[in-house]
Amino acid sequence: MTPPPSAGPRSIAIVGGGISGLTAAYRVRCAVGDDARVVVYDPAEQLGGILRTITLGEHRVDIGAEAFITRRPEVVDLLSELGLADRTLETSGARPLVYAGGRLRPLPTRTVNGIPASGSSVVGLVDDDTVARIDSEPQRGMQWTVGAEPTVADLVSLRFGPQVVARLVDPLLGGVYAGSAATTGLRTAAPGIARALDEGAGSLLVAARQALPPISATGIFGAIDGGYTVLLEELWCRARADHRQLAVTGIAREGDGWVLTGENQADITADHFDAVIVAVPAPRAARILDAVAPESAVAARRIPVASSVVVAMTLPDDAPIPANSGVLVASGEALHTKAITFSTSKWGLRGRGTQVVRLSYGRFGDTVARATSDEQLRHWAVADLETVLGATVAPIDLALARWIDAMPQYGPGHADVVDAIRAGLPPGIAVAGSYLDGIGVPACVASASQAAQVIVARWGHA
Ligand SMILES: Cc1cc2nc3c(=O)[nH]c(=O)nc-3n(C[C@H](O)[C@H](O)[C@H](O)COP(=O)(O)OP(=O)(O)OC[C@H]3O[C@@H](n4cnc5c(N)ncnc54)[C@H](O)[C@@H]3O)c2cc1C
Repeated sequence: MTPPPSAGPRSIAIVGGGISGLTAAYRVRCAVGDDARVVVYDPAEQLGGILRTITLGEHRVDIGAEAFITRRPEVVDLLSELGLADRTLETSGARPLVYAGGRLRPLPTRTVNGIPASGSSVVGLVDDDTVARIDSEPQRGMQWTVGAEPTVADLVSLRFGPQVVARLVDPLLGGVYAGSAATTGLRTAAPGIARALDEGAGSLLVAARQALPPISATGIFGAIDGGYTVLLEELWCRARADHRQLAVTGIAREGDGWVLTGENQADITADHFDAVIVAVPAPRAARILDAVAPESAVAARRIPVASSVVVAMTLPDDAPIPANSGVLVASGEALHTKAITFSTSKWGLRGRGTQVVRLSYGRFGDTVARATSDEQLRHWAVADLETVLGATVAPIDLALARWIDAMPQYGPGHADVVDAIRAGLPPGIAVAGSYLDGIGVPACVASASQAAQVIVARWGHA
């Protein structure tokens, strides 16, 4: 076993300045205090990664992630800890719609990530045969091996029929992962269902009933008034770190610490660090870890990634936007977008002069985010909105952002891959990011806190 390095002032490099990197920087600073040098490497001029707040007309708009799940504690707690709890926005209570069969319908409420717990909950969205098939599913014997992990598409299609996948599960997973039921493992999409099946539920319907979340009087999403930049700025201020605007390509051992390698060698190798936290997307982490943690790098390369584009626009206040939070799009519909958010309705911000609408494009396996021109995307955004609303749309302001290789896919066996990544790391190197314990911002915060904890624990800090 490598002995812990000797005590003294500590230096730590954080590679990647998205929410994972900035949370890690803040946590290290909190644990070690002034007696540490914290340096964040990120080639971007502006830190925050996929959290990016822009000005669009009179609005501050998040053009990457815009929300966080409030059922998970990490972001809620972090905002409180930073004195930002009063900046939390709650959803207005507006419900989402699903665009299926060429028209808008309410998104069923009592499902587990789109997997229904009764036929009656999806009446009107799927055909009568599918409703009957869902209700009679427990009568058809089910083979289940404890610990098995099919894709959601394989299981739901087999038990409830393909319409449930196309009209419910795919739209929900497309929104979260830019993936689909065919690329997402059951233990990621619906861990409660997998658990219930392991414990002998005997059918998908019974497992879904057991896994249904409790009915909540409040919304399950929060956002930040003023945008995610409010959180990023506070983290950055408290981390008291330096930003080096450089892309890191590798790590090399030097004595009992580390040096970084990068495209600009002269600038980057001069610094020596006691520890490094790698907080970049999986494909980049793989490259950076190649030399010092080859087995982790091999495992990280097994995580596929998807790219997506967000188009945000403002529309006149009287534009015919329904009082819903947005629209998820079923597979196979004649639209290019996979999801639309009516942001001003969702966050109860109507009446501020104009309305904000966001449309998302790109799924795992397609080239939309890489290969479609800005002009084409703008054209699609207006055309898609017109189709969905059945009215002419004239945007006042419009912006778009491309998020390349930004969304890891949580396929079957993902947890084993993550275990292999962490197991292959030498002491003094830790990882954080959306490809580890969940794609959402709360999971990134959790992975960053864990990475910081692993590092400072070696230094004798709690
Ligand atoms: C369009 C979209 C919408 C989303 N919406 C939501 C949402 O509403 N709610 C939610 O909870 N989650 C959402 N997510 C997921 C969430 O935003 C991300 O998982 C999370 O922000 C990832 O943070 P991160 O810090 O791990 O990675 P990133 O934000 O990707 O940050 C990584 C950073 O590393 C830097 N970097 C890259 N290569 C190098 C290198 N070689 N050297 C140094 N630095 C490097 C990059 O410049 C970047 O700043 C969304 C994701 C996308 C793409």
